[in-house]
Amino acid sequence: MIGILGLQGDYAAHGKMLDALNTPNRVVKKTEQLAEIDGLIFPGGESTTLIKLMDAWDWWQPLTDFAAKKPVFGTCAGMILVAKSVANPPQKSLDLIDIDVERNGYGRQIDSFEDTGAFRPDGQTRAMPMMFIRAPRIARLGEGVEALAECRGDVVMARQGKVLVASFHPELTDDLGVHRYFAEMVGV
Ligand code: GLN
Repeated sequence: MIGILGLQGDYAAHGKMLDALNTPNRVVKKTEQLAEIDGLIFPGGESTTLIKLMDAWDWWQPLTDFAAKKPVFGTCAGMILVAKSVANPPQKSLDLIDIDVERNGYGRQIDSFEDTGAFRPDGQTRAMPMMFIRAPRIARLGEGVEALAECRGDVVMARQGKVLVASFHPELTDDLGVHRYFAEMVGV
């Protein structure tokens, strides 16, 4: 069972992608529900709002404990939450993967765009449509972090152990590749 953190943002769209893969999934709105899932998606949205909700409902420790044991996948604002460090402006994060991110890193002129990127999860590269919405940019990739996709010269998807991140929104196109990859990581 894959959980989708349902505090704020476009969590419902992830459920549709997992449904299309026949992967059992549920929205997670209470910390107790973490005990019932095998992997967790942090959806896009607004990271400052997510941080306020995580503060208000004491999500930090339960999420840290969960990620120590089970796979997580952060997209866009979700990637900001799981990164080691955040700039523009600096804000706290869960520090689950050794990357630094810059919020809204694609600037105002092109703050939202769709493009074709290169997805290469298993050594074989294929084209993938990618949607960026006020997206964070990965500014630094730690040594133990594997790049899994690129777009416009930037790494836009990466993995370190049980932690997967993407700066784009794979749930907003009809390409199921990224969700299939995460479902395989979770083993469901
Ligand atoms: N710009 C947002 C943030 O900084 C992220 C946008 C998104 O998730 N699409 O939190």
